[in-house]
Amino acid sequence: MEHVIDRVLLDETALQAKVQELGERITRDYEGKDLLVVGILKGSLLFMADLLRAIRIPLEIDFMALSSYGSGASTSGEVRILKDLDQSIENRHVLVVEDVIDTGLTLNYLMDNLKSRGAASVKVCTILDKPERRRVAMTVDYNGFTIPDEFVVGYGLDYAQQYRHLPFVAVLKREVYGG
Ligand code: 5GP
Ligand code: MG
Ligand code: MG
Repeated sequence: MEHVIDRVLLDETALQAKVQELGERITRDYEGKDLLVVGILKGSLLFMADLLRAIRIPLEIDFMALSSYGSGASTSGEVRILKDLDQSIENRHVLVVEDVIDTGLTLNYLMDNLKSRGAASVKVCTILDKPERRRVAMTVDYNGFTIPDEFVVGYGLDYAQQYRHLPFVAVLKREVYGG
């Protein structure tokens, strides 16, 4: 893998330490509440699996898959639900787990959609945040790392469906994108 990686932004140790910290905060905040953790496929997969193990209260999990109508790299804000929740979230406390918040358009749509279903609360936990690119104002309830406006891969994030399995977050070499 070394031949395609320009530099590692967040190594495994940093990621795991942050995930433990987030898990402890979530454990405290949701103590005694009916918690449903919703992972957004596929990018949240690695973060979700690590985060769940760091939460020390009863919970249930579910997944959603979303697709943006935007062409290429730009997000349009129009979102299609490819896989919906298996259950009603009425009166439940929903915690959405994301890989990265970039423009915020995807999550903005999702939060409105989930709130309209009568959840007791809807919050978000993301491992990465790129606030420089934000196009809609939004509250990030739990954030792992604020990163600069650069395209990153690893720890669930892909480039052309590759590199999701890397246990660290990295920037790829320019020539990888060139083809
Ligand atoms: P947005 O917040 O712009 O609506 O979109 C967020 C989605 O865009 C993420 O869930 C992810 O799929 C994709 N994305 C945004 N920034 C990056 C990045 O740096 N690397 C990768 N691999 N995907 C990104
Ligand atoms: Mg995502
Ligand atoms: Mg992607």
